Amino acid sequence: MKTAIYPGSFDPVTLGHLDIIRRAAACFDKVYVCVMVNAEKKNPMFTPQERLELIRRSVADIPNVEAELWSGLLADYAVERQSRILVKGLRHATDFDQEYQMAAINKGLCHDLETVFLPASAAYQHFSSTMVREMIRYGQPMEKYVPAAVVDELKKRQ
Ligand code: ADP
Repeated sequence: MKTAIYPGSFDPVTLGHLDIIRRAAACFDKVYVCVMVNAEKKNPMFTPQERLELIRRSVADIPNVEAELWSGLLADYAVERQSRILVKGLRHATDFDQEYQMAAINKGLCHDLETVFLPASAAYQHFSSTMVREMIRYGQPMEKYVPAAVVDELKKRQ
């Protein structure tokens, strides 16, 4: 069985992330979405458990996707899940510079680990969790940016 891991902080999951998840799920038998707890992102809007829950609700219709929390090294998670493929979405050159380095770091930690890049779909290329958090703070309608599960959660919080 070919498995892959899609890691990120997902604070919160966006339609851009969901697009990568769906496309990865079409390429692999199983995709583990790994919500990184120790990712160096400052001032999170959602707790790791909330981020996980929002992803789980957003991928409920994709049978070969599972989401989990991980507080350790990504390379250790890959060993734990017996997967050797990391999927990353690439939006622009900045993502590439960062992800190219991360791929080398992960390969240094675990030689079998390969990173596979999926180009962002044009419709979502400018989406980021940072942008989404900003829109949420200013009370913008969120349907265009995040899955329905996140929209519902935000409405509950209003
Ligand atoms: P963000 O950069 O939005 O804060 P994450 O750190 O959670 O998101 O990103 C997880 C992964 O998803 C990374 O590989 C990132 O490049 C990718 N990604 C984020 N947003 C998009 C998007 N709109 N389209 C494609 N890939 C994306």
